[in-house]
Amino acid sequence: MKSYDVIVIGGGLQGSSCAYQLSKRGHKVAIIEQNDVASGTASHTDGYVGFSEKAPGIDALQGWHSVKLYHELQHELSYEIEFEPTGFMYVCETEREFAAASDYAKKIRDQGFDMTVIDPKEMCELEPNLAPDLVGGILNKSDGLANPYRVVFAFVNEAKRNGADVYTHTTVTDIKRNAKGEVEGVVTDRGDFLAPKVVNACGVWAPFIGKMVGLEIPIEPRKGMLLITEKAEPVTQSIEVLEFGYWLAKFFADFKRPVSELVEKHNVCLNIETTMSGNTVVGGCRLFKGYDIKSEYEIMQAIAERAIRFYPMLKDMHCIRSFGGVRPFCLDHLPIVSGVDEVPGFYIAAGHEGDGVALAPITGLLIAQIISGEETPFDASPLAWKRFEGVDLATLAEHP
Ligand SMILES: Cc1cc2nc3c(=O)[nH]c(=O)nc-3n(C[C@H](O)[C@H](O)[C@H](O)COP(=O)(O)OP(=O)(O)OC[C@H]3O[C@@H](n4cnc5c(N)ncnc54)[C@H](O)[C@@H]3O)c2cc1C
Repeated sequence: MKSYDVIVIGGGLQGSSCAYQLSKRGHKVAIIEQNDVASGTASHTDGYVGFSEKAPGIDALQGWHSVKLYHELQHELSYEIEFEPTGFMYVCETEREFAAASDYAKKIRDQGFDMTVIDPKEMCELEPNLAPDLVGGILNKSDGLANPYRVVFAFVNEAKRNGADVYTHTTVTDIKRNAKGEVEGVVTDRGDFLAPKVVNACGVWAPFIGKMVGLEIPIEPRKGMLLITEKAEPVTQSIEVLEFGYWLAKFFADFKRPVSELVEKHNVCLNIETTMSGNTVVGGCRLFKGYDIKSEYEIMQAIAERAIRFYPMLKDMHCIRSFGGVRPFCLDHLPIVSGVDEVPGFYIAAGHEGDGVALAPITGLLIAQIISGEETPFDASPLAWKRFEGVDLATLAEHP
């Protein structure tokens, strides 16, 4: 039976990052992945890397650390991850949104991070193809984009160079524990593997792994969809653009925008970027529909309608494909990145909702530091499993 220091379940963004950071510290690591690496939500996602999509506080703080790590990783990893610090702009359609955005920008600035409020003239200078009637926006220059597939493969390759083993098409079906309840390894459909430490990095599937050790992990799949246009003259100039309603919809489901019934019904908000290959990626939506990731025609229509509202030139462009995916949404809006006291040797790195690309570097680092007994770059206790101690999870279950 193969034996390791740490087994990471899940070869997605978090799992590969954990494996990289752990193997870099000399731990003997195995990644166990039920399909291929980067086959879960990592293969159905956009590549925005930012701290400014987060709530002020611990959320923005972990985002800021992760973006900083991306700046370093692009040189540290031997495989190209297509990280580009493009900057990022939220645009506002109404005065009410602009007031909320300005307040948000102030809170982010108060935390010591960069976020400028800009008027419509400055906005249109940066993004000349935007609709001319928008009321203003907020801007940050350190955020960027990365290629999520490449990020996973870069981490996996580097982990392998550090001696990690990667078992694909191998499904974890149970966690082995001794009489004291301590983790001893995993049971898979291809045999058992031993390790005193196991990291659950299974994204939307993390609750199934949690059940194997008696934990109810409050993560639910939250659907998103994206449209890809033909290659054409760039729609956005060099920056990632979102409507501020996107941020509001992420955190406040009752925030109402002046939108059509179709857009409202599917909780659609604009996010848009022009990729290195010249296609434009347009999103998106946030919906609770179980694990269903199929593209839905009506949602495609709603996304297109919303995108044309902000970038009228899109009405003359062809959409060449669309795909859906599910975000691992943790019911209290924060990922879980920690050990679990009641199950010694069991760790969770999951629940990153729409930020798992952005947060993968810091998540891997935190898990590796926690396991290695190192000091973390900030107090990561708000991300710990412990926060659910004594909490009735049903009280968290009202979707935002
Ligand atoms: C449409 C869309 C757009 C998005 N845009 C962005 C964005 O711009 N920026 C951003 O930061 N985030 C974005 N996200 C969110 C981001 O993609 C996710 O947060 C991230 O992919 C989650 O990473 P993960 O490693 O937790 O999960 P995954 O990448 O899903 O990895 C989990 C892995 O665990 C494996 N697994 C599950 N069960 C088992 C088992 N029993 N045994 C072995 N292996 C198992 C799965 O096969 C999977 O490969 C977006 C998501 C969607 C859907």
